[in-house]
Amino acid sequence: MRLLVVEDDKDLNRQIAEALTRAGYAVDRAFDGEEGWFLGDTEPYDAVVLDLGLPKKDGVAVLADWRRAGRAMPVLILTARDRWGEKVRGFDAGADDYVTKPFHMEEILARLRALMRRAAGHASSVFSCGPVTLDARAGRVAIDDNVVKLTSHEYRLLSYLMHHQGKVVSRAEIVEHLYDQDFDRDSNTIEVFVGRLRRKLGVDVIQTVRGLGYVLAPPAAKDDRPLASRSDPGA
Ligand code: CA
Repeated sequence: MRLLVVEDDKDLNRQIAEALTRAGYAVDRAFDGEEGWFLGDTEPYDAVVLDLGLPKKDGVAVLADWRRAGRAMPVLILTARDRWGEKVRGFDAGADDYVTKPFHMEEILARLRALMRRAAGHASSVFSCGPVTLDARAGRVAIDDNVVKLTSHEYRLLSYLMHHQGKVVSRAEIVEHLYDQDFDRDSNTIEVFVGRLRRKLGVDVIQTVRGLGYVLAPPAAKDDRPLASRSDPGA
């Protein structure tokens, strides 16, 4: 999952970006409204943290322009504690949630997790597919109850697939949601990642859809009935 942080306070921007990176996300950063608007308009983010008081272009205007252009990613706005009118304008412009400054980083993380799982249509932050579970809160992956150790890229890949379970996800799409904009991207490496992830999981949940990409789905149920009772259309 890949996120954008738009905040002109350099220290705060760095603190948020570091916390999100530690939590397993790919993170892009912008420091004014124009740069932030451009990134959000051209890159496919899974969620955005948007400060409202920004140089060059106000946060509310940035958000309103994204929504007008059909950009539907979840947006969490940062507002000053005493500026309730700002919150109202933010929601009217298309914000999904807000946090008032000063805030605890844990609250930003929790609210972003909630926004992303809701955008994916999930009620809980624990995702599962067959015997595989991914706990987005703990950043933990397990098969049945055995914890599987993944690298941050493998975790990000599985997390993206879990958020889009049952849908075919192309290699290009995975590349865009796995790496930040400064990363040297190569869609050929995705096959390698998927191969490694499959081996670590050891269960058949990531299927290749030839020419299209991958789909995460529970392993096919084995047909345990005796041969004689199976219907055979050719008989
Ligand atoms: Ca600001």
